[in-house]
Amino acid sequence: MNRILIIEDELRIAAFLEKGLKASGFTTTTVGDGKLAVEMVFGDRFDLIILDLGLPGKDGLTILEELRGQGVQTPVIILTARDDIQDKVVGFEAGADDYVTKPFRFEELLARIRARLRNSGSNENQFEKELRFNNVTLNLQTRRVHVGDRIVELSAREFTLAETLLRHPNQVMSREQLLDHVWGCDYNISSNIVDVYIGYLRKKLGENFVKTIRGMGYSCRV
Ligand code: CA
Repeated sequence: MNRILIIEDELRIAAFLEKGLKASGFTTTTVGDGKLAVEMVFGDRFDLIILDLGLPGKDGLTILEELRGQGVQTPVIILTARDDIQDKVVGFEAGADDYVTKPFRFEELLARIRARLRNSGSNENQFEKELRFNNVTLNLQTRRVHVGDRIVELSAREFTLAETLLRHPNQVMSREQLLDHVWGCDYNISSNIVDVYIGYLRKKLGENFVKTIRGMGYSCRV
């Protein structure tokens, strides 16, 4: 079943979307705050995002730029009352896949959602469920982590760090790259935080989970 994230602060519209999408066979999650929305995208897996532009916390275009800047390729349909042509251009430049202006007919939005999902080839079968390295397994859907048969609790940040490393097996990831991927590029903190979290991961997943490549960064390599 395709999972759709609705980023919309207007409760009436959010409820309307949820109801229609559920009736059409989708699973939906709704978030009304911009900052929280970004965290949700990184903390979970969605097949498509419906994005309002005027949002508290962080506006839609900033969210979109941030997601695309960090390599998130989930299709995004902007849904907004701003029908100004300039906004559309900016939206597409920021990486939107489609643009629907309010007021809209649900059928039109649904048709566009289906078209996007077809294009992105997203479906349950191709859905990547697990990442493995040695005896460590990350389940990307349930967010469960196993070391051998043992379930290990990771914080959201630790999970994202482990996931980032495992998505680039045998590559060396610099502290800056990890900081960008896991904490966000505008995160104004020292890169020492990466070393601290690598330490947490080693404690929980085993010393050999990630190797230190002196002067360069970290790597999950056999
Ligand atoms: Ca709004």
